[in-house]
Amino acid sequence: MVSSHYKGLSLQKAWKFMSAMNRRSFLAAWAALAASPALGAMPSSGEVDIVIVGAGAAGIAAARRVAAAGRRYVLLEASDRIGGRCYTETKTFGVPYDHGAHWLHMPDMNPLVKLAPQARIEVYPAPRSNKVRIGRRNARAGELEDFLAALVRSNRAIADVQRGRADIACQAALPKDLLDWQQTIEFVLGPFGCAKDLNEISALDFARSGERDIDAFSRPGLGALLAKLGEGVSVELSTPVTRIDWKSGIEVETPRGKVRAKAVIVTASTGVLGAGKIKFTPDLPKRQQEAVNQLKLGSYDHVMLELPGNPLGLQPDELVYEKASGRQTAALLANVGKSDLCMIDVAGSFGRSLAQQGEAAMVAFAIEWLVKQYGEDIKKSVKRTHATRWNEAPWVMGAFSAAAVGGSGARKILMEPVRGIHFAGEAMHETLWGTVGGAWESGERAADAALKSFAPTPSKQRQPRRRD
Ligand SMILES: Cc1cc2nc3c(=O)[nH]c(=O)nc-3n(C[C@H](O)[C@H](O)[C@H](O)COP(=O)(O)OP(=O)(O)OC[C@H]3O[C@@H](n4cnc5c(N)ncnc54)[C@H](O)[C@@H]3O)c2cc1C
Repeated sequence: MVSSHYKGLSLQKAWKFMSAMNRRSFLAAWAALAASPALGAMPSSGEVDIVIVGAGAAGIAAARRVAAAGRRYVLLEASDRIGGRCYTETKTFGVPYDHGAHWLHMPDMNPLVKLAPQARIEVYPAPRSNKVRIGRRNARAGELEDFLAALVRSNRAIADVQRGRADIACQAALPKDLLDWQQTIEFVLGPFGCAKDLNEISALDFARSGERDIDAFSRPGLGALLAKLGEGVSVELSTPVTRIDWKSGIEVETPRGKVRAKAVIVTASTGVLGAGKIKFTPDLPKRQQEAVNQLKLGSYDHVMLELPGNPLGLQPDELVYEKASGRQTAALLANVGKSDLCMIDVAGSFGRSLAQQGEAAMVAFAIEWLVKQYGEDIKKSVKRTHATRWNEAPWVMGAFSAAAVGGSGARKILMEPVRGIHFAGEAMHETLWGTVGGAWESGERAADAALKSFAPTPSKQRQPRRRD
């Protein structure tokens, strides 16, 4: 998530801002995929070991794990492509355009960064010298210091909520003396970091999430990296799961037929689950239903503007905020990957209402927002434009899942298997929720849990001793 560059920002790291999977196991997993592509095909017998619902980061990671264990799986994807919320295309602008996830957070620990070299994808560090605009000028060193100090104090104040027992909204935990940085901090930690306004976010959930203040980028796009990792995985596209019957065993229903399995890994977003697009027979227990409800997706979209000739005078991949005076603000990622593309991110309640007005309104806002900071001439430089609208994406229905106040326990609840049903995805990770890395790890964990519940594969069963 673009987002949380400043989540958990320590003072030390704030100052810095101012100025493997190992090869053997990777190759083993890859070889297993290449050797057994049929393991993932829609089975004519209608029976597999594991059905995986959704081919985003969590589903792909789960499928690779199950294939490496030599188990039969089928991966069912509702849409006509893989990747889910992590998707790159080059058609719109002729260069990579990440519609969803773009930042690889905490590269030292990020599972996708570890896999990138073997997938022959270049990952490079995000620049650490970012800007804050105050009207038409850049913030001066002293002003930046004030902003960063206020940000560090805000993160700390939210983290302190863990000492008490009761959960509160992040908004209520903020220091009371943020003065004229209040709106900027609310935007950076709320909409930009978590896709929701701070008054909607559980301080306990926020405090539990890991630091995300060091980032990297994938040269051909983050979605392209995920697609590469999904290359050997067999997927049934355009096959939405409509019902999961778990009365006795698991039966998964799609418009193309039913599949029986010993377990199912469901990676559909909490938006899709909450909308009831997958029926469960019998209904899921109340505990799980409530957990889904507490992890509703926030709103986060990119408005992409093509600005040839670098009229903003910014470095490649430079991140810019404005000193905001209200909620109608955004963040700018300039010259994405050295291209002419400038990504303007809108999120939270303002982003949601703007997206509801449609793509033209989003583009108009983004241009006016730049004009306010860089002058009227910017308008003449804008060539092609595009805006994502993730709330309208029928198989996602939002961005990512900051927990509601009182909902900090919801992730753990959804991680508990319900008689053969395992939930996975970004929402099912306590520290890396809202990220591709978190979704990936959650998919692997769900696969491990499902595999563990089976008897050993025939090849691994102990052979009877031969009597000589
Ligand atoms: C605009 C935006 C920016 C983001 N920025 C970043 C970022 O910079 N860095 C970062 O790490 N993360 C970012 N994120 C979050 C990140 O994209 C997600 O956390 C991650 O991709 C989620 O992966 P997932 O596998 O859990 O879910 P998804 O990607 O949603 O995958 C679930 C899949 O299930 C499919 N599906 C749904 N219902 C069904 C059904 N009934 N039957 C079959 N298939 C179904 C969907 O089509 C989808 O392909 C961003 C998200 C958005 C929207």
